[in-house]
Amino acid sequence: MARIVMKFGGTSMAGTERIRRVAQIVKRQAERGNEVAVVVSAMSGETDRLVGFCREANPLYDPAEYDVVVASGEQVTSGLLAITLQALGCKARSWLGWQLPIHTDDAYAKARIGTIDSDALLASMAEGTIAVIPGFQGLTDDNRITTLGRGGSDTSAVAVAAAIKADRCDIYTDVDGVYTTDPRIVSRARKLKAVTYEEMLELASVGSKVLQTRSVGLAMKEGVRVQVLSSFIDENAPSADTIPGTMIVTDEELENAQVERQLITGIAADKNEAKITLTRVPDRPGAVSHIFAPLAESNINVDMIIQNVGRDKGETDVTFTVPQADLARATDVLQNQREAIGYNRLIPDTKVAKISVVGVGMKSHAGVASTMFTALADRKINIQAISTSEIKVSVLIDEDETNGRDFSSRGRRAMSGAGGSPCVHRELVRTAQIRYQAPQRSSWAMKSKSLWAFFED
Ligand code: ASP
Ligand code: MG
Repeated sequence: MARIVMKFGGTSMAGTERIRRVAQIVKRQAERGNEVAVVVSAMSGETDRLVGFCREANPLYDPAEYDVVVASGEQVTSGLLAITLQALGCKARSWLGWQLPIHTDDAYAKARIGTIDSDALLASMAEGTIAVIPGFQGLTDDNRITTLGRGGSDTSAVAVAAAIKADRCDIYTDVDGVYTTDPRIVSRARKLKAVTYEEMLELASVGSKVLQTRSVGLAMKEGVRVQVLSSFIDENAPSADTIPGTMIVTDEELENAQVERQLITGIAADKNEAKITLTRVPDRPGAVSHIFAPLAESNINVDMIIQNVGRDKGETDVTFTVPQADLARATDVLQNQREAIGYNRLIPDTKVAKISVVGVGMKSHAGVASTMFTALADRKINIQAISTSEIKVSVLIDEDETNGRDFSSRGRRAMSGAGGSPCVHRELVRTAQIRYQAPQRSSWAMKSKSLWAFFED
């Protein structure tokens, strides 16, 4: 017997018909003699709808009340799945976030999970009752409802898996695994059998949207075994226990599995960032902290930062990015701090896209960043900001540049349905191929060639 957490996203839960299919997948897993806990998202589009109501009510809404509103989407789907499982003859019940409870801090709209009380849950599962848990929800010490940030149901699932010491956490989505890049946009994107926690962490944080970043960090910290797999399967599909999806693994496991090591594991595009430039900030000690301390206090995550070299008169421009959803709040905070910071103008820009390449191979091979920059230069795409980590290079570019003109008809069709940047991908391919012919680059180019080939049309 194994103990399995199964997580289903919004697309899988969108309507009673789809919930019935989810219930069948859950039933099959339980019938194999496993203890099963299911974590569910709200129906796709529902959270956006609820967020819309809050914004309409007041653009500077109270995040605590926002959580009361948006947590409701998951309450609906968890109850519906329990009802549907019962209709299929299974024992099932729902456990709302406050009923377990899932304890969180009070950072409303992006709360962090502390502990989960799982005794009652485990006792019920041991009796053969399938547990259905709404994702996204938590409870503060003051008994107020919280939510875990957009995409937070992934984190709920991983946290539950860690709390009940599950053998595996299967994340069912609308793709059948983790791809080298968005398969809806790039026809030759390839599914990976395994990615490391570190790579997945970077891919998630740069907008690959398969998993919430926090869920990956938590899985890595707690050693939760996570599989990403498709929920669009029929009864003849191989069991999840045969690992048909992508496993997230440690570095050692990847080496032992002898999966061919790639220089680049994936490319992601993220259009949900906004850029803020503050002009003529005094160029003196403490100025930058006057900008970022109040943002941090308001729980606004800043990603890329550039501070230009000071001009004469001891002034400089500071540019940085924040999530687009936090732009109104960030602008408000900075306007209130205008005196303290002493800037001249605040220029917001939502028409930006962040393109990132990720791969553990970068640790040992130089040249990825320069390849990327050359590809963009050849295309005359201006880079507005850069950030790097040991295994990632991200650039910020004008969002319009991602709407290329010369796609294959297939690419163009895919573009109309999804955000992304085939144009940029293609350019990276082209440069990589040129580099491939250059003998001095052959060692890493050899390795990356197979991957780049997947981005070709
Ligand atoms: N329903 C929430 C959202 O859309 C949480 C989730 O689905 O993971 O962000
Ligand atoms: Mg999601």
